[in-house]
Amino acid sequence: MKKVVICLMTVLMCLGLCACGDSKAERSFFAMDTYITVTAYGKNGEKAVQAAQELMEGYDALWSIGEENSAVSRLNRGERISLDRDTSALLDRSLEISHMTQGAFDPLMLPVMELWGFTDKHYAVPSEDDIKKALSLTDVQGLHLENGTAYLTPEGCKADLGGIAKGYASGAAADMMRKMGVSSGILSLGGNIRTIGEKPDGSPWRVAVRMPFDEGFIGIVEVRDKAVITSGGYERYFEENGKLYHHIIDPKTGCPADSGLMSVTVVSGDDTLADALSTALFVMGKEQAEEFWREHEGFDLILLCDDGSLYITEGIKDDFTSDMEYEVISNR
Ligand code: ADP
Ligand code: MG
Repeated sequence: MKKVVICLMTVLMCLGLCACGDSKAERSFFAMDTYITVTAYGKNGEKAVQAAQELMEGYDALWSIGEENSAVSRLNRGERISLDRDTSALLDRSLEISHMTQGAFDPLMLPVMELWGFTDKHYAVPSEDDIKKALSLTDVQGLHLENGTAYLTPEGCKADLGGIAKGYASGAAADMMRKMGVSSGILSLGGNIRTIGEKPDGSPWRVAVRMPFDEGFIGIVEVRDKAVITSGGYERYFEENGKLYHHIIDPKTGCPADSGLMSVTVVSGDDTLADALSTALFVMGKEQAEEFWREHEGFDLILLCDDGSLYITEGIKDDFTSDMEYEVISNR
């Protein structure tokens, strides 16, 4: 009996490998404010990358704040909108993770983003008064989800799902591609990477984590079927009087987060969680991020501090390599 099972497994594994073969499908396009590349091996590769593009362009049309008729823009103009399945799931997760991170992840940060000029590139350091006013509109309690609809109060509240939407999109696209028969693949959305299965040769995907403000990288993490999502102040910023102001806002101050972290990478099977946490933990700083990791399941971290020190959490210690010195954060 055992022999039969082993033979059957060998045949299935061979079939799996043959199905991958060399048939690679790849497509690059611009959506969700970033340059995206989707690569698939295996059955239906071409169809799957095409479908992934359509899916993400659809999300862009729903959630873009630059698109006048998107669901989020209508919500931000004060309308009560009916929710499709994905927008409903995305808003639910946004609220859940906002609570879980005690507000460090805040999906209503748009008034502050606008004030600093991140939405129209008319960058300016605002006055403290203006920051205070904009901050008063960012309380997550202002987002109401009721009977398949959503609305915002008080007037002036505006949602910005830029810290979580790409994660939701890569997770959903990967699920769909897998269902279509893709056994191996990789999606790259700026600092967000999502892997499907393993490489066609059976080895894990090797994802390089970029060194902020540099051509090089911090290290390489080997993953199968996981997302590797990085946030940092180096992705989008402006300079005034020699100081850099970046696009991740600390909801406590209304200013670019200055927590001593240069970048946060989250490795997880849950892309939506990974994307939102990469933003939230960047706001929290190293000590709180470490504590948060100890108290929650389902993800690992690579933390690069402003002073160049590097930390990884225990769960990826056998999968991470770097030329830099680093410390492993353990459970106790
Ligand atoms: P990127 O979009 O460059 O990959 P992030 O995932 O870290 O980077 O998301 C940053 C974006 O999230 C900002 O451009 C803004 O739209 C939004 N944002 C900024 N601060 C916060 C915050 N504290 N909580 C939630 N979203 C935020
Ligand atoms: Mg994010």
